[in-house]
Amino acid sequence: MHEFALADAVVKAAVRAAREAGMARIEAITVRVGELQQIERDLFEFSLTEVIPAAEPALQGVRFVVEEEPVRFRCRVCEREFGTPDLDRVEDADDREAIHFLPELSHAYIRCPGCGSPDFEILAGRGISLARVEGDTDPGPAPG
Ligand SMILES: [Zn+2]
Repeated sequence: MHEFALADAVVKAAVRAAREAGMARIEAITVRVGELQQIERDLFEFSLTEVIPAAEPALQGVRFVVEEEPVRFRCRVCEREFGTPDLDRVEDADDREAIHFLPELSHAYIRCPGCGSPDFEILAGRGISLARVEGDTDPGPAPG
């Protein structure tokens, strides 16, 4: 399933990051989910706890924090940056919803609030990323 695969990738990336930082135990993993990412949030959060390998002691008792990353667009014509709240031009609420479920269609609905151009790029708000891994760093041998 989509959500399980994403959760699995996030947890594996977190374990790798923790290892590189010399953490003995991970306390919290913060994940950013883009506003345009097509995902079942509840299922994703459930999946995160399900994919923890039982054999990974560093992950016992870990807490997951899921943050939403708001979408940011940048107009290629006037370079104005804008987000979903600026999209007054998407007057139909159904169209607004369609953008969330079918981000590929966003170019059909969204116009730059500054100049009205449909030519823009998506700067943020897509995909899933690992924002933070917090935990106990193994102190190792005391210096000096
Ligand atoms: Zn513009």
